[in-house]
Amino acid sequence: MLDKHQGARLANLWDEGKAAGMTEPEKLLYRSNLLGSDKRITNYGGGNTSAKVMEKDPLTGEMVEVLWVKGSGGDVGTIKMDGFSTLYMDKLRALKGIYRGVEFEDEMVGYLPHCTFNLNPRAASIDTPLHAYVPKPHVDHMHPDAIIAIAASKNSRELTSRIFGDEIGWLPWKRPGYELGLWLEKFCQENPDARGVVLESHGLFTWGDTAKEAYETTIEIINRAIAWFETENTGPAFGGQSKPVLAAADRAAIAKKLMPVIRGLISAGESKVGHFDDGQAVLDFVTSTSLEPLAALGTSCPDHFLRTKIRPLVVDFDPTQPDVGKTLAGLPEAIATYRADYAAYYERCKRADSPAMRDPNAVVYLVPGVGMITFAKDKATARISAEFYINAINVMRGASGVSTYVGLPEQEAFDIEYWLLEEAKLQRMPKPKSLAGRIALVTGGAGGIGKATANRLMQEGACVVLADIDETALEAAQTELSTRYGKDFVRSVNMNVTSEAAVESGFGDALLAFGGLDILVSNAGLATSAAVEDTTLALWNKNMDILATGYFLVSREAFRIFRNQKAGGNVVFVASKNGLAASPGASAYCTAKAAEIHLARCLALEGASAQIRVNVVNPDAVLRGSKIWTGEWKEQRAAAYKMDVDELEAHYRERSMLKLSVFPEDIAEAIYFLASDMSAKSTGNIVNVDAGNAQSFTR
Ligand SMILES: [Zn+2]
Repeated sequence: MLDKHQGARLANLWDEGKAAGMTEPEKLLYRSNLLGSDKRITNYGGGNTSAKVMEKDPLTGEMVEVLWVKGSGGDVGTIKMDGFSTLYMDKLRALKGIYRGVEFEDEMVGYLPHCTFNLNPRAASIDTPLHAYVPKPHVDHMHPDAIIAIAASKNSRELTSRIFGDEIGWLPWKRPGYELGLWLEKFCQENPDARGVVLESHGLFTWGDTAKEAYETTIEIINRAIAWFETENTGPAFGGQSKPVLAAADRAAIAKKLMPVIRGLISAGESKVGHFDDGQAVLDFVTSTSLEPLAALGTSCPDHFLRTKIRPLVVDFDPTQPDVGKTLAGLPEAIATYRADYAAYYERCKRADSPAMRDPNAVVYLVPGVGMITFAKDKATARISAEFYINAINVMRGASGVSTYVGLPEQEAFDIEYWLLEEAKLQRMPKPKSLAGRIALVTGGAGGIGKATANRLMQEGACVVLADIDETALEAAQTELSTRYGKDFVRSVNMNVTSEAAVESGFGDALLAFGGLDILVSNAGLATSAAVEDTTLALWNKNMDILATGYFLVSREAFRIFRNQKAGGNVVFVASKNGLAASPGASAYCTAKAAEIHLARCLALEGASAQIRVNVVNPDAVLRGSKIWTGEWKEQRAAAYKMDVDELEAHYRERSMLKLSVFPEDIAEAIYFLASDMSAKSTGNIVNVDAGNAQSFTR
């Protein structure tokens, strides 16, 4: 027990040896990164830190007081020096003279750029006045689960005083902004000995005379809250367990079935990407007696519900008698009801100048006995939304264990969700890329054309699952692409496309990773060369297995997913010039490639009524980066043309009508076109990317 309790406490990570030589802004950065490194201290992007520092004014050369404070949109855990905004304290104080009162507090945000020190381009956040007006040199504002559990309890004021006495004060709920800054200042003036204050339904403010003191106070206060919960909150979590937890494999199997169906039902406005979490905190909650009533109350801390919507959708699934078919059948109505409830909330709470209603679909889907599914416009947002809901679960666990948990009043929640300043932030976001929210699976994804295709699709914002049989190349490709585009955008699965079981399991992994599928690029291949009298049955079958059967197996799996997801679909086959044009000494290869092309036409016909498009790209002689073009095939082709292997590229170039070499990137460009909405009205087509070859003209 002792170990468990010690593990629950936050460690003091301050290293004086490290901090000793630092300037004040460097110490602020150091402290911020330490605090943000633990999600129990603050959620991703939540909370902020500041220091008031004397600096030389670039205009007058005089020493002036400057507020360094986390700027808009950053995260304290990963912030760098350029993430802080800097403002003249005397100008910030002067703003009090033009403040017209609480109903005009939003206009004060417009004055903050006028207070900028040293032309710092980092925009000041809405929380800036909260830090400016606390009359202490170093201020931390955090969203610790243990403190929010107190702040979201019905008797939070009384609990705060019981745990912290006069050391930590308490302020009632107030939306962050200029007025709250003045409240904090008044609190500090009236309570000069206080070390911090709990903000109802929100979080914690703490301060100190030095960076170290502020940091240690923050850690100490949170640890006292954690310790208090350990002694007080000893009953079963969430009123006890009333539903069984399914085995891990069953949980994953159910999530794979639910995710594409949910995704299809909520992606009409924009394509969404999913995330699945079945960690212990989530399982405790989704198997508890309090699941439905607590979920209905919604989240409390504004940071939480901006990411998770005010409440989750509890999926109708009974883990004592698992019947996924029944659950799937009920999803359309459950999701429609959620949307109607959301629209009603919007209508009830909207004000004359409120922005138009946003996407009314749930972000968080709780599945009893199974886990939590989240959907958002991209993988990172879906993952972070899940992290936020776990923060909310921890808060509900604490608050409901020692008191009664209270969500934020509906109108307050609405006013934050539809805050004009928040809307302005959304309007400033760059336009989404052409494949944002789309999910693609590329077979042969670690090879030349496959990797170039994944790269092209990711450039346009797609999430990509690389499927390949070559484990080493797969790992290298995933590392390369995740370094370039971020870990959230790429996954890899080991897939032998000739194995029915491997194909099914690989697509299943893709569903669990991203929640659905929009694009299949069937590209895994090989090439062999032999005169027909020398072609063994094994060689013939190998071509047929990988090129014909392999393309069939992955397409069938994609079609099954597309039909369940009910959001159309897109298949691109990478075939070959040799599927149209006969070539000497490669009958097995050419025949299998011809089968691919005809399979694509049949599938285009079958898929059309479900908006599933199927098209073909025919490359020719893409030597660079290709695994096919290493070793035997290259030598065989060179021998067939009676030349050296090094002469092959030039040979193919000269043979082409345009006298150009064809590269993997050229093929990827055609695949991107066919996989994107630019070709929305094309299906059953063939695009040759071969620098011109009259033999393969289609007719
Ligand atoms: Zn906050």
